[in-house]
Amino acid sequence: MTVSIVIPLYNEEENVEILHERLKEILDRLGLEYEILYVDDGSTDATLSILEGIQANESKVVVLSLRRNFGQTAAFASGFDFARGDIIVTMDGDLQNDPRDIPKLLELIKDHDLVSGWRKKRRDPFFSRRLPSMAANWLISKVTGVKLHDYGCSLKAYRRDVIKNLKLYGEMHRFIPAVASWYGVRVAEVETTHHPRLKGKSKYGLSRTIKVLLDLITVKFLQSFSTKPLQFFGPMGLLSGMLGFLISFYLSIEKIFFGNPIGGRPLLLLGALLIIVGIQFIGMGLLGEMLVRVYHESQRKPIYVIKKVLGPENK
Ligand code: UDP
Ligand code: MG
Repeated sequence: MTVSIVIPLYNEEENVEILHERLKEILDRLGLEYEILYVDDGSTDATLSILEGIQANESKVVVLSLRRNFGQTAAFASGFDFARGDIIVTMDGDLQNDPRDIPKLLELIKDHDLVSGWRKKRRDPFFSRRLPSMAANWLISKVTGVKLHDYGCSLKAYRRDVIKNLKLYGEMHRFIPAVASWYGVRVAEVETTHHPRLKGKSKYGLSRTIKVLLDLITVKFLQSFSTKPLQFFGPMGLLSGMLGFLISFYLSIEKIFFGNPIGGRPLLLLGALLIIVGIQFIGMGLLGEMLVRVYHESQRKPIYVIKKVLGPENK
């Protein structure tokens, strides 16, 4: 088993050295083959030069330096692209995750595809972080159907193929378990230690909640309808179109058979609006269907994932 540790760092000059020491101690003791990928996410402090110093003396360290600050998700994604291990472990670089939990994750990954940390005693401010995160966790588990207590914990372990199949966007790293569940992966959760941030500043505040919420909508839509968008837009379009048609039909009868003027009735506007909205929805669904085909066929990307094939020719 070879392990790649991926750690994004943005202005963590006071943390990197201690982090590296603790990490090395744990990993060396485990006696497995490993590499550590530090991703400098466009830091403006001494983070990168400290990393360069560490790398100069260690063959097991890889430093990726991003040109500017791309955000934690992008930093993870770049680390994943360069990671060579069979198992990929991610964690924060601010010493809030504890490297001593890594062995626990590695033990569990033996019979799972993804192991997620659970910061049961989370040491962050209540109102700006823990409260919104409780709401988010509840919502994410309801909406995605993947039952975890703590989606936001960076300390996670993945089998290589889980990661290599994923494309990450936005603030999406917390949704990897949900996205990966589409591939039918076995997910486990394990309690991990969480420390308060002692050095440096947290990069996030309340505003992240909105981003997470929007990403959740994307994830849910892609999870349920990415290969059949018309099934999502179609029912709404049909319903709206039909209602509009019924209203217009009723108004026509009034006009034609009873001679009542209908030009000034609000209902007329509603009827016309519903018909137009209905057509728009169906049109959007059809456009979506075309996009799906372009996407899958241009990349020869199947709409299924095979675990293995058993047969004489496929050994
Ligand atoms: N981070 C990053 N790029 C960013 C923001 C954060 O690489 O744009 C890193 C940061 O250096 C840390 C980890 O992501 O290692 C988690 O960030 P932070 O501790 O600020 O988040 P919190 O623990 O407060 O959720
Ligand atoms: Mg932190």
